[in-house]
Amino acid sequence: MSEAIDWARVRADFPLLTREVHGRPLIYLDSANTGQKPAAVIEAVDDFYRRHNANVSRAVHALGSEATEAYEGARRKLAAFLNVHANDLVLCSGTTFALNLVAYSWALPRLKAGDAILLTRMEHHANIVPWQIVAQRTGAVIRVAEIDERGELDLERLFAQMTPDVKLLAFTHVSNVLGTVNPAREICREARRRGIVTVVDGSQAAPHRALDVAGLGCDFYAITGHKMAGPTGTGALWARREHLEAMPPFLGGGEMIREVRFEGTVYNDPPHRFEAGTPNIAGFVGLGAAVDYLSGIGMAAIEAREKELLAHATAALSQVEGLRILGDAREKAAVISFLVEGAHAHDLATLLDLEGVAVRSGHHCAHPLMQHYGVPATCRASFAFYNTVEEIDRFVEALQKVRRLLA
Ligand code: PMP
Repeated sequence: MSEAIDWARVRADFPLLTREVHGRPLIYLDSANTGQKPAAVIEAVDDFYRRHNANVSRAVHALGSEATEAYEGARRKLAAFLNVHANDLVLCSGTTFALNLVAYSWALPRLKAGDAILLTRMEHHANIVPWQIVAQRTGAVIRVAEIDERGELDLERLFAQMTPDVKLLAFTHVSNVLGTVNPAREICREARRRGIVTVVDGSQAAPHRALDVAGLGCDFYAITGHKMAGPTGTGALWARREHLEAMPPFLGGGEMIREVRFEGTVYNDPPHRFEAGTPNIAGFVGLGAAVDYLSGIGMAAIEAREKELLAHATAALSQVEGLRILGDAREKAAVISFLVEGAHAHDLATLLDLEGVAVRSGHHCAHPLMQHYGVPATCRASFAFYNTVEEIDRFVEALQKVRRLLA
């Protein structure tokens, strides 16, 4: 339970959170954009470069073995964290790469004119643009599942849209703008019954809740390391083994081959088939440490803590005159997008920054969702377990002040 954890001590694990911005204590409310890193992660990366640095898989010397073991160890840790087999986990630079890998290696060779790709209104551009590229090249069409007033997917309509021409459904597990947690298991079950392959964007889910990716029933699941306490440039794609076995490589180069002749090349087995070139070894060492760190606290405790912060922030923000929150899904992650009457989101975020409060303003890489709400931008406060109730109160006070300035 979250009561059993000393959250002030947990917060002290994050060196950056002690700094000041514009002469004020930093209040970092942009964890949906990228998460802060605990000392354990920073030290793991530092230690790798100081003591173990070498390339993976090519060298038989001691450092080479240590680096390979550290890299493969990170894969095993991440696999255990997601409840999948390590051999079915492709390590890559993040969700954007992972989704493009599915688009280029799975979808592009298979889709054709007459096929449809189903997306949802709340997708990040990373889960829209790769499918548009596939559609343009294959003649497939894109269809969109819409959301209701709460910012939840309209499931009845979504299931009705799962027609026989739909070959692929790509959707986010948790919305980075609305915080909506989509019922991924139910959606994947319905899709699977109809033979539709599912691609789940787990970027915003993995940092906040315990995941059983194997139990979700999806075909592909993408995550990104930098939102889950790990370094930037790390992430992974999990895929069903049968897909990985059948997929041609996305990038060619070293590491992804078994034998190269000018007459032709024999590719390595998955997951290495999809990991051409020198990977972000130190980054994955850091991600392994991040997974250890999050598991040490416990994802259930993290989820409970963030629920408390979300409830507190939602109640506090609803006292602000002229403030409107976008999205009140019944299952919601600790993300609050809001608009304040008469104030532009960028002006709000700029003035909040002067108060030491970091919130994001903009379209959050979700133009179609902004179009749905008829706004160019929102402000977004996103919380992590290292935030505090006091920070939220100071944020809301700062917002009241800023709102008066802009009125
Ligand atoms: N999908 C969602 C829902 C996201 O929030 C993000 C990051 N903002 C991405 C995809 C892109 O992930 P990455 O940073 O790994 O490219």
